[in-house]
Amino acid sequence: MKLYSTNLQAAEVSFETALIEGQAPDKGLYLPRSLPLLSKEDIVSLKDKPYPEVAFRVLRKVLEGEIDELSLKEIVYDAYNYDVPLEELNENTYIMRLDRGPTASFKDFAARLMARLMQYYLKKDSKKITILTATSGDTGSAVAHAFYGLDNVRVIVLFPRTEVSERQRKQMTTLQKNISAISIDGKFDDCQAMVKSAFSDDQLRHLNLSSANSINIGRLIPQSLYYIYAYVNLCNYPEEIIFSIPSGNFGNMMGCVLAKTMGLPVKKIVASVNENDEFPSFLSTGEYHKIVPSLNCLSNAMNVGHPSNLARLIAVYGGQMDELGNVNKLPDMEQLRNDIYSISVTDEETKVTMRDILDSYGILIEPHGAVGIKGLSDYRNNTADKTIAVTLETAHPAKFPEEVKSVTGIDPELPISLKDAESKEEHMDLLTKDYEKFKEYLLSKLS
Ligand SMILES: *Cc1c(COP(=O)(O)O)cnc(C)c1O
Repeated sequence: MKLYSTNLQAAEVSFETALIEGQAPDKGLYLPRSLPLLSKEDIVSLKDKPYPEVAFRVLRKVLEGEIDELSLKEIVYDAYNYDVPLEELNENTYIMRLDRGPTASFKDFAARLMARLMQYYLKKDSKKITILTATSGDTGSAVAHAFYGLDNVRVIVLFPRTEVSERQRKQMTTLQKNISAISIDGKFDDCQAMVKSAFSDDQLRHLNLSSANSINIGRLIPQSLYYIYAYVNLCNYPEEIIFSIPSGNFGNMMGCVLAKTMGLPVKKIVASVNENDEFPSFLSTGEYHKIVPSLNCLSNAMNVGHPSNLARLIAVYGGQMDELGNVNKLPDMEQLRNDIYSISVTDEETKVTMRDILDSYGILIEPHGAVGIKGLSDYRNNTADKTIAVTLETAHPAKFPEEVKSVTGIDPELPISLKDAESKEEHMDLLTKDYEKFKEYLLSKLS
């Protein structure tokens, strides 16, 4: 596999290099030059297989020549030791619950596989790295848990002080060992900008910094697998399917784009966002304006005013966007609109949807999942498209207890995996969004 940078100013690299380095030296994001095409036989043969087996069989093709099959199989089965339920909402609509991993959000899928792949390569090469990651809440905990206790990796998580829930914070601050957490007096976009600056800072090169947020291609590839799993469980090839994806930084949605590129018959991707509506506006007008600062919405893990992964999406559709959000070459907008439908969902609509789903189906969902459901129903109302659809529940309701309780009156029960962190002591450092201070911190902590 050869990967290129979306800024087109860096050399092509191998999968191992892209995985370990995270961001390209020209500040672009790595994308595979090509991906294997899944044949009809490939797709049909995945039917009725357990999740790790589906994941292994697809990855074996994607990562052919990059890792031996035996190690890959071990890694995949070790990473995916939890359920992936597909719940029927009505005749042609399903909810895929991606909330059964150890930190109860879909980020576990990517983080657990990526961590194990990194450990595999680092150990092989006797190298050590420090992962820097910016989080709007769930990435940080998923990444921290995924790498916790691994010998060759140290993790530093930056989170916006007032934008993560108490429970999300505890998932990051109670681990210790090789995990450090920094509370930033700023927004998610500030955290992300600090991390990006550190990666491209020559004076920090010797620290072997790497990323684990959705700018790492190792995060993206695992996020293509559950779309394939949902498809083979619900459809007969070549029947088409719709996915509705509650989106913030668009890593999850890019996973679906990769699955579609590999030949999965995806009729439409519904990219549902909260009031940070830069993407649906871009899709309709062809003009991109990031939202600075991003708006604080109920679905807080999606409060992103300039999603990093748009650079990748635009690259896949033949355009070019730099890391600042300048569109230097427009993608094929017609094709983009044909494949993707995008809608902004207000907080009020999110709440109404949470109550509706509880009243009509007895199913409790949290705000992010509600954005996905509302986006899908909007798409259906606008198009009368009855094609089978899967909407993603990206976190467990207990990750957002205050929001869920105030909207539905129900105090969601905590999964066992989350109970642990509640009572442990928290450890974190406090910093402002000043990059120079952050740099000093890294130099003193890591040198
Ligand atoms: C991160 C996150 C999202 C957004 O995913 P992106 O890949 O950033 O678009 C949605 N829901 C939850 C619960 C999340 O943690």
